[in-house]
Amino acid sequence: MKYFDTHCHIDFSHFDRDREEVIKRAKDMGVVYIVDVGIDVETTKKAIELAEKYEFIYASAGIHPSEVNNSSENALNEMETLAKNKKVVAIGETGLDYHYSGIIKEKQKGFFKAQIEIARKLNLPLIIHQRESKEDLIKILEESDLPEKIVFHCFDGDEELEKYCEERGFYISFTGIVTFKNALKVKEVAKNYPVEKIMAETDAPFLSPHPFRGKRNEPMFVKYIIKEIAELKGVNLEKISEIIFTNSLHFFNLTPGVRSN
Ligand SMILES: [Zn+2]
Repeated sequence: MKYFDTHCHIDFSHFDRDREEVIKRAKDMGVVYIVDVGIDVETTKKAIELAEKYEFIYASAGIHPSEVNNSSENALNEMETLAKNKKVVAIGETGLDYHYSGIIKEKQKGFFKAQIEIARKLNLPLIIHQRESKEDLIKILEESDLPEKIVFHCFDGDEELEKYCEERGFYISFTGIVTFKNALKVKEVAKNYPVEKIMAETDAPFLSPHPFRGKRNEPMFVKYIIKEIAELKGVNLEKISEIIFTNSLHFFNLTPGVRSN
């Protein structure tokens, strides 16, 4: 079976010791594509470095809402310049995260709007991170000119947000959380969401799926997420695996012939 880890951070220092082995293991286990996702200018540069070194790795350029406080306005310009690299296949992760105290909501909103605009301008799909910020996030999306394709990564929403995403034709991407026994809400979303709009991601080094929960995550574990989705939907594993793989190719415009490098 072929797998696509649509969202991970193997540029992080968690992998400094054995990055090459992790990448080799992924490839050996059938991970055909990996998208390494930037969370600020520095990690976006590192993601692009990896993408330039390994043919099957691509990069996403973005400033995560939690990194906005530490970013200068110029960071957006730098990020936009980096996003023009030919191995960059998406903008993000961006969005709103109101979980921690001390955040500056207005600055997060500004960075989110700017990144929506960059995605639209460069005609790249957008990776959204949402945490405890549903109302403001929907409001911004409703007021903006959007790029053609949007994914809610590591979906952590309720039924209302799920409905909204479905109506708007957005993608939802599932992490190892969907394999956790107590993640009933997320399991329900995976069960019900239209299969042609589902993707899978590890978000490595975080959120290892069961039975590796609590350990460092890595791209080859993406198959456990897909296995869980197949079980929840009651669909044959090979079939769902193929559909999710095709969805991911389509989302990142990597369909053979359209973009190959
Ligand atoms: Zn992430």
